[in-house]
Amino acid sequence: MTDIPRHDIIRHLGHRRTIIGEAPGRVNLIGEHTDYSGGFVLPTVIPQTTAVAVAANSEPAARVWSASVPHDEQQARFVVGEEQRRGSWVDYVQGASAVLRAAGHPVGGFDAVIRSEVPLGSGLSSSASLSVSVLRALRELFQLRIDDVVLAGLARRVETDFIGVPIGVMDPIACALGANHHALFLDTRDLSWQLVRIPSTAEFAVVNSGIRHSISSGHYRIRRQELEAGIRALGVHEPREMTDVEMRRLETLPALLQKRVQHVITENARVLEAVDALRRRDMPRFGQLMNASHKSLRDDYEVSIPEIDRMVEIAQAQRGVLGARITGGGFGGSIVILTTAGNAARVAAAVAKASRDELRLTPQVLVPAPA
Ligand code: ADP
Ligand code: MG
Repeated sequence: MTDIPRHDIIRHLGHRRTIIGEAPGRVNLIGEHTDYSGGFVLPTVIPQTTAVAVAANSEPAARVWSASVPHDEQQARFVVGEEQRRGSWVDYVQGASAVLRAAGHPVGGFDAVIRSEVPLGSGLSSSASLSVSVLRALRELFQLRIDDVVLAGLARRVETDFIGVPIGVMDPIACALGANHHALFLDTRDLSWQLVRIPSTAEFAVVNSGIRHSISSGHYRIRRQELEAGIRALGVHEPREMTDVEMRRLETLPALLQKRVQHVITENARVLEAVDALRRRDMPRFGQLMNASHKSLRDDYEVSIPEIDRMVEIAQAQRGVLGARITGGGFGGSIVILTTAGNAARVAAAVAKASRDELRLTPQVLVPAPA
């Protein structure tokens, strides 16, 4: 749990009644770039969380602080009910009060202190962990009747409707409904989900490359558009279920669109097989599927970068490793590694060291959480 230092709470919130809202970051184990075309994803939570301390005030305004952003941007204020997008981090907090109000929930003035252990822009969904934790804090402060499933939907709207980034549905659901030692198998077509236990014979490691991606940087949008163009040209609704005839038509698409659709088709199949492998406790098979996912993201969807490819290669060569892949939207961010039990910490440290020495990166081991 992220600790908000007591002196920060007292400095900003005084001795008022304080509520803490919290939500973890997430790592996607497999099923990348499938969540905006009705496909399957399989994320789990990471030990790092975002925590938000809130207290009501007597103004119609919100004052918010975050220690996770550059010093001169740490404070912000907005009028509750008059939220306006500004293009800064405070939009995640403004968005939370705006979507709550739009859904008919009464939100008054509040002060908030935010602290996060989830690295920003590293493919581990700091953004959804922020919006889910703010929504949870406001839910309790204003005694709103909202369950976590509805709350995940509101968190999504913070990003899609208020901020205007076309995120898929995986991040808010994973951050709101994920659980330790379980993978969350989500069907993004109908939002049905199940927690599947991760066998204790295996462990995951997560290493952040330190190369920041930004979902608003345009690459993500371009890939979405390419996929949509491919799907449209084929005349199918969602690429996860294509008939043989449609599959044959795939070859008539321009090569680039063909690759984009190909990734999504094969990745959806890999998620289904990965869930099956989890249930059978066949973790070597799970690892092979992760390796295949990386290859597909690198060659067909083209969302990797050479430094990440090298990190994955280094990971795959370590003793005890069953599989490794890029995770998150791509163009930087983190890698996720599957190892046999007892090996994750050593492997993560070796990958981090090699990334520093050979690639001159500033990597960070997130899972297993450093003691
Ligand atoms: P990711 O969700 O993969 O970390 P995004 O680009 O979706 O990357 O979201 C990162 C953005 O979320 C940051 O640039 C910032 O605006 C906002 N953010 C996330 N966590 C915090 C935080 N603790 N304090 C302030 N802003 C945050
Ligand atoms: Mg995000």
